[in-house]
Amino acid sequence: MLASACPGWVCYAEKTHGEMLPFMSRVKSPQQVMGTLVKEWLGKRWGKTPDQIYHVTVMPCYDKKLEASRQDFYSEQYSTRDVDCVLTTGELALLLREKGLDLSAPVNTESSPFESEIPALVPHPGSTSGSYLHSLIHSISITSATKLVLDVRPVRGSADYVEYTLKPVETEDGPSKPVFRAATCYGFRNLQNLVRKIARDTGVQTGKGALGRMPGATARRRLRPATGSAELENAGYDFVEVMACPGGCVNGGGQMKPSDVVKSMTDEEGFVRDWASEGVQMDVSGPAPTPNGSTSSRWGDKAWLRRTEEAYWAEETGLPTPPPSPDQNSPALPPWPSKSEKHHQADMLAMQILDDLCQPAGGVKAWESRMDEEAERRRRTVFRTQYRAVESEVIGLAVKW
Ligand code: SF4
Repeated sequence: MLASACPGWVCYAEKTHGEMLPFMSRVKSPQQVMGTLVKEWLGKRWGKTPDQIYHVTVMPCYDKKLEASRQDFYSEQYSTRDVDCVLTTGELALLLREKGLDLSAPVNTESSPFESEIPALVPHPGSTSGSYLHSLIHSISITSATKLVLDVRPVRGSADYVEYTLKPVETEDGPSKPVFRAATCYGFRNLQNLVRKIARDTGVQTGKGALGRMPGATARRRLRPATGSAELENAGYDFVEVMACPGGCVNGGGQMKPSDVVKSMTDEEGFVRDWASEGVQMDVSGPAPTPNGSTSSRWGDKAWLRRTEEAYWAEETGLPTPPPSPDQNSPALPPWPSKSEKHHQADMLAMQILDDLCQPAGGVKAWESRMDEEAERRRRTVFRTQYRAVESEVIGLAVKW
């Protein structure tokens, strides 16, 4: 299964690799799940119809605007979208600056606790790109009957393409077979390698345009190799967290960047941009400080990303610091936050939402329990979406044989 939370990847697959679409998770992205929760669940609690709510999200890239405008997320009944407006972080900063608001100045009421029925900022280990893979690794390890160890291996030394393998602890009988094999794959160059690998592992044919050439069930059967340790060692992935931006969402095209990093006047899709007027370009004079407080003369994208990640998770920002992601050199399972009161509240609320939106007979008892058929059908309608291969405009008659 390939993650589908990144609209950059979804658009790329729909336009150029239709053969990948059957492998993509049908679950809506976090932005669109939130759209459903705000317009359908919260709206009902507030006594409002979806068209009486204006829902704004703040996102790391422009592709999220395209995602919000997809046909699937438009309600014909109320003539409204699940997300009405998407601002990038850069646009939000620009808006605040234009309104004369100083982000670094304290706000009168900011030290008083924010009262809400929705617990905010529940931390989780992983990445700023959603932590899908880390959630799966955690879930598999705590439900496994045998003790598992995690092997983490960057592919060709890249921090943007990393393989994760969960195996039982080795015994005297020899090496153990992996129970779960996955990867995080960020950036278009890695994406192209991933597409080639999936094609090799599954037998689908790539490079034939949007529709692809997938021999349906045959390809799906080939996702699982025959048993045998050598084959399993080279087995395909069970899950890949795919993101179009190198470095993931923290490096999204709509995030603010220092002026010396913004070199090109065009974005990744070739559109000419005025970065300063879009809020993306920041005036950072002088070299940026390194984590140890000194300044670096080799200030570049990677240093900026590291600084952004640090700022994002830093304790002084008031955000909870997440437990660290798995160390790439250590075969230890990632630590997971202990069940705090906040996590418990979030779990209870999520079950309440599932109950309200799907209305299973007998209510939602636990995450693991399966709901009745009708409630499952509602769950799929509410939380899933679909993808469509974009047909090439080159019609058969125009092809030169
Ligand atoms: S990886 Fe980049 S394109 Fe994809 S959702 Fe994140 S910021 Fe947007």
